[in-house]
Amino acid sequence: MRRRLVIAIDGPAGAGKSSAAKLLARRLGYTLLDTGAIYRALALIAREHGIAWSDGPKLAKLARALEVRFRSDGERNRVSVGTREVTDDIRQPDMGEGASQVSALAEVRQALLELQRRLAAGGGVVAEGRDTGTVVFPHADVKIFLTASAEERARRRFEEERGRGLAVDYDRTLRALVERDQRDQNRAIAPLRPAPDAVMIDTSGLSLPEVVERLLETVDKRGETH
Ligand code: C5P
Repeated sequence: MRRRLVIAIDGPAGAGKSSAAKLLARRLGYTLLDTGAIYRALALIAREHGIAWSDGPKLAKLARALEVRFRSDGERNRVSVGTREVTDDIRQPDMGEGASQVSALAEVRQALLELQRRLAAGGGVVAEGRDTGTVVFPHADVKIFLTASAEERARRRFEEERGRGLAVDYDRTLRALVERDQRDQNRAIAPLRPAPDAVMIDTSGLSLPEVVERLLETVDKRGETH
């Protein structure tokens, strides 16, 4: 039997990371380690314990005791904390905000490192995030950085929001995205950047199935050299 790898997929918002990582995990029969979901779960549990999303020391303590697990039911990647399923609760919009706040704290990122590494200990994992290849799994078997032009990413977001019935403006969407990229690349904690040994894949003009094929080819090539 082939060795079960650790595959790290990073990249900016709108590059198609989450959908591609989910399908790749399914094709390989691997677990999807959705690192954003871990930050969301921490934000949720903190709120329920009355801990502020800015309280680094208390959040770090909570993070060290957090027992997050992932399990696919074939359709969705289900997330639980201890015995409680939180798949839907962590998708509330304010948990996105909470995740963004708690993830900006260095002591929280540090405290969650061990959990993420424990979850990948046996291999057979596709880890998706923004610093999985650089910080969390510097020794991952395969590292991939998905990109797409700002215009393409803005177009995807614009169409997705329009599809949800929101009144959106393409130029505004593009401007906001460029600003967010700048912030993400230049921030002091976990800046968004590819690992030196990451394979860069530009998804501009590619459909989701085409992206997944590229990923599978990369895993085949890279996975064997390790
Ligand atoms: O990907 P998702 O929307 O679930 O991530 C929620 C937030 O968690 C992101 O906006 C980002 O601020 C943070 N995050 C992070 N590092 C990761 C994954 C997510 O800082 N590896």
